Amino acid sequence: MSMSIPISSFDSVEIRENTLVLCDIDYTLLYPTETESSVNDLHELYTYYIRQYPFDREMVLRLASDAYNARYPMRPTDPEGFDRMLRKIRSTSGCELVFLTARSPNTVDYTASNFIQIGLVPEEHIIHFSDTMPKGKYVSLRIPVTPYANVVFIDDLQSNLDNMARYVDPAKLRSYLFVM
Ligand SMILES: [Mg+2]
Repeated sequence: MSMSIPISSFDSVEIRENTLVLCDIDYTLLYPTETESSVNDLHELYTYYIRQYPFDREMVLRLASDAYNARYPMRPTDPEGFDRMLRKIRSTSGCELVFLTARSPNTVDYTASNFIQIGLVPEEHIIHFSDTMPKGKYVSLRIPVTPYANVVFIDDLQSNLDNMARYVDPAKLRSYLFVM
């Protein structure tokens, strides 16, 4: 297991000059407001839209997930702390924030709607969708880290932090385990 610092607020993330900040989305930036009944609701919504559009599976999926998302909007884990971290990143020389989610690239629109739900402007952010590729491997192939002196990685899954530690120089990397 790689070394990581458990945090419950983005205020605990240390931002130095020339740092690339990689931040997970689900259960780090935001979390769903699911309840015991929400799975039943989702099922009901699908059933309802399948009756409306029996031959358009894509339409059914989109309408049902939009309706579900409106009923159970995402919530931010730490809105004030995130806002302070974002301002720190923007005011520190050579720093950049990149979101790194294991969501599929098919969820670009859905992810943008989630950002709006928690008060962020999606167009102002860089979001990478690693999908089924381990996050460290994804970074090694798609996100150049050599221009940065430091890499910060914030994620709620230790396995993701472990994978990142295999691909990013340990002298550069600082990992934070986000615990809600
Ligand atoms: Mg996560």
